Amino acid sequence: MEEWMMQLETSVNTLEKLKKYIHVSPGEKEGIEEAAKRNVRWGTTPYFVALMDPEDPNCPIRRQVIPSVLENENRYGVENYLEWKENRLTDEDRPECIARQYHDRIAFLVTDVCAMYCRHCFRKELVVIRGLRFRFDIEEGLQWIREHHEIRDVLVTGGDPFVLSDDKIEYLIAKLREIPHVEMIRFGTRTPIVLPQRITPGLKKVLSGNHRVPIWINTQCNHPKEITEQTAKAVYDLLSCGISIGNQAVLLKGINDDIDTFKELHQKLLTIRIRPYYLFYCEPAPGIDHFRTPVEKGAELIRDAIRGHTTGMAQPMYVVATRIGKIMLMPYYSYVEKNDEEYVVRNFKGETTTLPNIPE
Ligand SMILES: *Cc1c(COP(=O)(O)O)cnc(C)c1O
Ligand code: SF4
Repeated sequence: MEEWMMQLETSVNTLEKLKKYIHVSPGEKEGIEEAAKRNVRWGTTPYFVALMDPEDPNCPIRRQVIPSVLENENRYGVENYLEWKENRLTDEDRPECIARQYHDRIAFLVTDVCAMYCRHCFRKELVVIRGLRFRFDIEEGLQWIREHHEIRDVLVTGGDPFVLSDDKIEYLIAKLREIPHVEMIRFGTRTPIVLPQRITPGLKKVLSGNHRVPIWINTQCNHPKEITEQTAKAVYDLLSCGISIGNQAVLLKGINDDIDTFKELHQKLLTIRIRPYYLFYCEPAPGIDHFRTPVEKGAELIRDAIRGHTTGMAQPMYVVATRIGKIMLMPYYSYVEKNDEEYVVRNFKGETTTLPNIPE
């Protein structure tokens, strides 16, 4: 068995297994017992658990992995969130594995299995709680895409599509590449972070090559502690296949919502060749109130930690994913003033300069 399969087979998902790595706090123990009672999924790979701080219950990795009793609270979350958000209750007829919010691109859900069951997951009703079940019928999804000529960009997601076998991934890519109107394939996978062993020579073979239809990957890394030598190697290997990796961080209260952590995360991503893409506001899925900040927080962090303060490439776009698509949440305009002669623009230090106002 390959190392990545072993990692999944030996996933740390019980109190007994977790105790081998950390000193479980009474609060965490309660959260785990509650999760077992409600039969919700939790856990991740031994590789990722080994990055936990054994003594600190506030460790950012522990907080993302270990269930909390706070998940029972739901003051601000939306009931039946995913169905509402993905417009599944109304709208056009589509297979369950296709989520659509845009004219030219879709999300294609191929599994509800992950290498880590993130406590803050916005698809938690499907992936973690599993009150919601979809039919992951790849043939049905492919047929729908074939019939919809306007779809030029297919975002393969889940769950985590990289838990599928090399053969299944190869098949999916081959079938998508046969569709003339498909111009690009994207994979959303957390494996470079939680299971870097997944980037095997076999998978590299499947992903490699200069094809008409390129592959792009977006991963999710929320804290600098999640980045290791193995992550760097996995990213390098994917780049050597011609695949560029972006990051989609989630803004998480007490995990990455302070200036130092936020800056370090985005700088460190660039050192391992991951380009920050999105910073997501933590969506109103049920039972994750304890991870959510005020909406302004993300834009403030970009203003105070990134823009002008460090490499421009470290800056993600701050967005919230909603039922009407992703919406930018960056209300910090640089213009201060405009008159017939000039614009006054402001930099990150508050200094101003001018630009001539050119008539149309
Ligand atoms: C996020 C998402 C996309 C991709 O959005 P981009 O802004 O192009 O990255 C496409 N379809 C759905 C349903 C999505 O949720
Ligand atoms: S890896 Fe993605 S889909 Fe899976 S639990 Fe985490 S956020 Fe949700």
